[in-house]
Amino acid sequence: MRAAVTVAPRRIEVKELPDPTPAPDEALLRVEVAGICGSDLHMFDGTNPYANFPLTQGHEFSARVVALGSAYQGAVKPGDRVTVEPLIYCGECFPCRHGRPNCCVRLKVLGVHTDGAFAEMISVKSRALFPAGSLDAELTALVEPVSIGMQVVTRGQVTGDDTVVVYGAGVIGQATLVCARDRGARVLVVDKLPSRLELARKLGAEATAEAGREDVAKVIADWTNGEGPAVAVDATGVPAVIRAAIDAVAPSGRIVIVGISDQEVSIPVIQFSRKELTIVGSRNNAGVFGQALDLVQRLNDRLRVLVTHRFPLDQAQDALDLALDRPQHAEKVLLTITDTK
Ligand SMILES: [Zn+2]
Ligand SMILES: [Zn+2]
Repeated sequence: MRAAVTVAPRRIEVKELPDPTPAPDEALLRVEVAGICGSDLHMFDGTNPYANFPLTQGHEFSARVVALGSAYQGAVKPGDRVTVEPLIYCGECFPCRHGRPNCCVRLKVLGVHTDGAFAEMISVKSRALFPAGSLDAELTALVEPVSIGMQVVTRGQVTGDDTVVVYGAGVIGQATLVCARDRGARVLVVDKLPSRLELARKLGAEATAEAGREDVAKVIADWTNGEGPAVAVDATGVPAVIRAAIDAVAPSGRIVIVGISDQEVSIPVIQFSRKELTIVGSRNNAGVFGQALDLVQRLNDRLRVLVTHRFPLDQAQDALDLALDRPQHAEKVLLTITDTK
């Protein structure tokens, strides 16, 4: 099989490798389409502390089942289109024992700690397969990023009564918007880039605020009649944004932090008790992957606006370079790896 292998920071080589051999509890898949995630970029440019090359990256994808290991007893059949929950957890540690395998202390993510989907073939745990039914290959590859948004609204306990402000309108912010709208919440999205805000409006944002041009705090206050939103989501990882979210949210409100950074954030201690805030993190997903698949199946073609670029596997280097260097023009960049019919 061919695979796009990251051999050094910012350097990908398309290589001929042996097909993987699945274990009895694994399935062999032919990858159709794989998305490039922000986390792939941190690996690609070598800033992820787990960066360990050579590595075949990629964890959000659609595939056709080629073969199922002898231990498999589920309903999926060879030829079926599937997507894959890319988390490999131990099942024994404290978070695993408490229904939070997304926080497993020995968590491995496909394409991060093990070889991933920027390849024609991959073998994965059969338990991680999710049949995609009639969903097309591109949209099937969006299920994993949507699952990140589903986890955010689950952690934030978002309901149809809520006003939600999402800071950051990259794919994870947009996925959060879509999941919150699906629960009936009203959503305002904040970003620096007008193109991303336009996309957010297409995906159901009731209001937007352009950071750097508008007074974001005032736009949010006006939108909520001075009360502040019930829920504020940080999808940026920027300390000043997290601080702004905590200042903006309504007293008794919830903050969900899904953005990633190793920087520190400074918060006046009084804010925690005065507002009696609930501040939670959100990581990968815990048991909501099926809900994400269901949502993508229901919204179907309406989500295709998230895809801004498509490259063949041979141009994986160009695809990752573009995603890394020109984020203002890129939302979801996809690699079309094999035939998608
Ligand atoms: Zn991802
Ligand atoms: Zn574990």
